[in-house]
Amino acid sequence: MIKILTVIGARPQIIKASALNRAINGRYSKDILEVILHTGQHYDDSMSDVFFREMDIPQPDYNLNVGSGSHGKQTASMIEGIEKIALIEKPNAIIVYGDTNSTLATAIAASKLKIPLVHIEAGLRSFNKSMPEEINRIVCDHCSTMLFTPTGAGYKNLTREGFNQDNESPFTIDNPGIFHCGDVMYDNTLYFSDVAETASQIISDLELINKEFLLVTVHRDSNTDVPERLNSILDAINDISISESIHVVFPMHPRTTASLEKGEYSASKHIKENKLFHVITPASFLEMHLLEKRCSMIFTDSGGVQKEAFFLRKPCIVLRHETEWVELIECGNSLLVDANAERIKDAYEQYKGKKKISYPALYGDGNAADFICKEIIRNFS
Ligand code: UDP
Repeated sequence: MIKILTVIGARPQIIKASALNRAINGRYSKDILEVILHTGQHYDDSMSDVFFREMDIPQPDYNLNVGSGSHGKQTASMIEGIEKIALIEKPNAIIVYGDTNSTLATAIAASKLKIPLVHIEAGLRSFNKSMPEEINRIVCDHCSTMLFTPTGAGYKNLTREGFNQDNESPFTIDNPGIFHCGDVMYDNTLYFSDVAETASQIISDLELINKEFLLVTVHRDSNTDVPERLNSILDAINDISISESIHVVFPMHPRTTASLEKGEYSASKHIKENKLFHVITPASFLEMHLLEKRCSMIFTDSGGVQKEAFFLRKPCIVLRHETEWVELIECGNSLLVDANAERIKDAYEQYKGKKKISYPALYGDGNAADFICKEIIRNFS
């Protein structure tokens, strides 16, 4: 039996971990024992607990309850906590997802303890090191023993950084294995699509049945912490809503809510005055899925939401200067507009005019988690 320690902390990691947990419990429970450690980076019901309930993930075996704090304070207390649990559990490997401070802390703790690290969603690069996530990704990849990348672009990034595609099992930190395996988030979208239809009432609760609406998420610190940028984004979308008489649904991330409570965010007042602008608390996964499915267009700075827009064939206006998901720009489903009001409005017009979009199978076939389990078993048996 292979024991793995899965470390999660932030909303998207809990969501991604559900795909692997489902595969392990469904098909590989004789081979893999999963122990779950939650760092507590995200902690309230709407950012954490609801995903465990809805996606049927077992309660974490450990919770470090680190909560918020500066990058240094948060990451340091995670390293200490992860090290302690890893020494108790002595797993064959530690699994980590994405690019948050929980990812970074796990990479440091695991590599110092010489426990093999498995990075899921490896290889992604924005080529913008002012983004905290970019540093986390690079450090984590270079501490990893097995790297599972969702995209062809991610695979190329890894080979460009010196990862050798000819390395053979058994993999180690000095002989790492890289795999292009598809995206566990696509596994989730396929799995939960029907469930969301019956489980979530959000469209009727918002009185939006048969009404057209735009969906918005904004949570990157480069947007939320810079008043000119957040004002520009929200004012542009608000202008579109008013001029087109179209509803907007905005599940607001706690970081964005905290910013908008400050005086210099004038857009806060403007969106409150618009009756078509529905600001709601963070949506659950099933609610979000249904909102994405029913909306006519998505505006976001989220990585995961950009992909889900593609999975559900909704045009996506990306409120960032660059993206790791470059294939979405190439196929036409995403347009990069930064926080520029004119570009946001122009992108809306382009998509309203039915811009040409193609939908190749960029993210695998919905069996990424299965692939990852098989490779883990092969390497650690
Ligand atoms: N998500 C959610 N509720 C929300 C906003 C996002 O369930 O109110 C989900 C979304 O469907 C996707 C994931 O959270 O599966 C993306 O996470 P997030 O945007 O927090 O982070 P990122 O992907 O940018 O790392």
